Amino acid sequence: MGPMTRFHPPGAPVAVLTTQPLDRALDYRAPTGGVEDGAFVEVPLGPRKVLGVVWGEAAGDWPVEKLRPILRVLEVPAMGSPFRDFIERAAAYTLTPLPAMLRLGLRAPGLGEVPGKRRVYGLGTGTPDRATPARQKVIDALRDRPTDLFALSELADLAGVSTSVVKGLCASGAVLEQAMPRDADFPPLDPARAGKPLAPDQAEAADALRAEIATGDYGTTLLRGVTGSGKTEVYLEAVAECMARGRQALVLLPEIALTAEFLTRVQARFGARPAEWHSGVTQAERRRTWAKTAEGQARLIVGARSALFLPYRDLGLIVVDEEHDTSYKQEDGVLYSARDMAVLRASCEGAQVVLATATPSLESWANAELGKYKRLDLTSRFGEAVLPKLATIDMRDEAVAGGRWISPTLKRAVEARIIAGEQSLIFLNRRGYAPVTLCRACGQQVACHQCDARMVEHRFLKRLMCHQCGETAPMPEVCPSCGVEGKLAAVGPGVERMAEEVTALFPEARVAILSSDLFGSARALKAKVEEIASGGADIIVGTQLVAKGHNFPKLTLVGVIDADLGLQGSDLRAAERTFQLMRQVSGRAGRADKPGQALLQTYQPDHPVIRAILTGDEEAFLREEAAQRRAAGVPPYGRMAGIVISDPDAGVAFDVGNALARNTAGLDEIGAEVYGPAPAPIARIRGRHRVRLLVKAPRQAPIQPALAAWVAGIDLPRSTRLSIDIDPQSF
Ligand code: ADP
Ligand code: ZN
Repeated sequence: MGPMTRFHPPGAPVAVLTTQPLDRALDYRAPTGGVEDGAFVEVPLGPRKVLGVVWGEAAGDWPVEKLRPILRVLEVPAMGSPFRDFIERAAAYTLTPLPAMLRLGLRAPGLGEVPGKRRVYGLGTGTPDRATPARQKVIDALRDRPTDLFALSELADLAGVSTSVVKGLCASGAVLEQAMPRDADFPPLDPARAGKPLAPDQAEAADALRAEIATGDYGTTLLRGVTGSGKTEVYLEAVAECMARGRQALVLLPEIALTAEFLTRVQARFGARPAEWHSGVTQAERRRTWAKTAEGQARLIVGARSALFLPYRDLGLIVVDEEHDTSYKQEDGVLYSARDMAVLRASCEGAQVVLATATPSLESWANAELGKYKRLDLTSRFGEAVLPKLATIDMRDEAVAGGRWISPTLKRAVEARIIAGEQSLIFLNRRGYAPVTLCRACGQQVACHQCDARMVEHRFLKRLMCHQCGETAPMPEVCPSCGVEGKLAAVGPGVERMAEEVTALFPEARVAILSSDLFGSARALKAKVEEIASGGADIIVGTQLVAKGHNFPKLTLVGVIDADLGLQGSDLRAAERTFQLMRQVSGRAGRADKPGQALLQTYQPDHPVIRAILTGDEEAFLREEAAQRRAAGVPPYGRMAGIVISDPDAGVAFDVGNALARNTAGLDEIGAEVYGPAPAPIARIRGRHRVRLLVKAPRQAPIQPALAAWVAGIDLPRSTRLSIDIDPQSF
């Protein structure tokens, strides 16, 4: 049970949890007027005032007279007990300190500020009295988003100028400065509007989901169906049912890039746009979404994983679209899986979860097998469409010149599509121009100076980029290792280089590249996607970005350049990921009236994973994978945790790792085994060396308390950081 909501009379001692890095709540005195559990308050902490949440009974270490008083109760609805319960359970599950977990729920800029006091900035109607390049940057940034309002520093950051430049533009009216308006309501969505008439299997699935929602209780359903089978249409019915019952619904999408298309669809279905929550949303808009979600006025929220930490007043449904997507795992700061947290939050709120996917994660599939999740399958593609025909191209038999990657067989297939007026997709899951930049004089590769990673050439951006830390550098003219000039060569293909090859092979064709680096904003990407969808390209060259969700009705051929790419390395999840990605991307081909074809270039056509992709027998594949994982005792059939220790000095990191490995008494007790320390999958990031221990335990073992006690027993040097990743992505 979570904390009970109760009222604390004036002067009573109460616990207040703040987002400060303290390990527990502190005691304060309730204000005149009293206070209820979950209320947002301002409290003194040392010389400062900080934000906090009333978190139940005081610990009582101090007499009431000694306690400092709560200064102010904010005018926002209190945090409900299901939400507090969720924060506590999520913190315990991920071994995150409670304040750090709470901080995820308080990412509301200006929370607690009195409306009307703060200033916001937007596009004005005046012209600048004096034009400078810096001023122009501000105007350009605002013209991109003419209806948005920004905080001062936010706008300055966006334009890449100092705040004084923005201020300087206000006098002429080129930039509009105004008091922050009271948050406007979101336009009402109408759940009673009729959706598309559903096909029989869709209707059956929608009925089943409606029945689940009618229970008013927690439950999770895995909604399976190949791309284009109409899953979105089905879960929108569940959203409608949830809203009709007066509860709020959340739809999580793995990428902001997908949001634009989805919002249009919601608008068509319910007559208005829902609230949005992701990194591309302005502070003013985020503040509004937070407040309206707390009031219950925002009925449908579409967002990224952080939307799980919004203060819903009455959450009835969470849809996790593309539930298998690895980007749902937060790999920075608090390490959590949004899919698992969605299930946890729903169980606290008495809400339903729908996990929608064409290629379920082994975890969700296994939970459905165990009967923990319900399972709905859409068996056919919507309408007449059939799954694409899949075939491999055995690259050992193909004559391909050095520095080229498209086989003659694939080339002929593309030509046939061009003649037929249909689209082809050339897929390579590698951003940039070339993965390796090599010096032909000394043989060294250009590496990131602070990570164990190569610098990747991005010819479009004219820079080298480290895909680990994001650091970029201009393309060097001389080799950084030997100093010889003009000898740096691109090795291997990236998506930009594939576009070059495609353009050379098919000079008459219109070629479009879709890769996340090439689009500054979701809006620009959306425009490109729409242009392609309406026939504005003959050949699309793309990364993973195209594998997700976008509909290209004229696309009938998918050519995968390197189907083996994900199979290298020793990661136990490699097979699952490759299978999912190949299924997703080949599913892009073919629509209602045009059957599609997918051709997979491979050097290992007999590899079991490649064979499974061809036969398309997903159940058989999952059963086989499940058997192997069960035999190895790894997730989802065993518990796993990764402990990453990082330090600027590799020796120090290893010393800490070895000290942990020597003393595993508490873990032995619960039947856990410890492996390592070994260099982490990425052995150095941002100048810190990383070593990793893996802990494997039986499925029922109470792994969190044992891990907490274990790492608490070690003295960390000041420079060393330790993080625990429950259910790591790679093992
Ligand atoms: P999925 O989410 O499984 O990929 P979608 O729900 O996006 O599938 O449906 C694929 C396409 O078929 C979309 O363009 C959608 O508008 C259309 N569609 C799905 N169901 C119906 C229906 N019942 N009537 C008309 N069009 C539909
Ligand atoms: Zn780096």
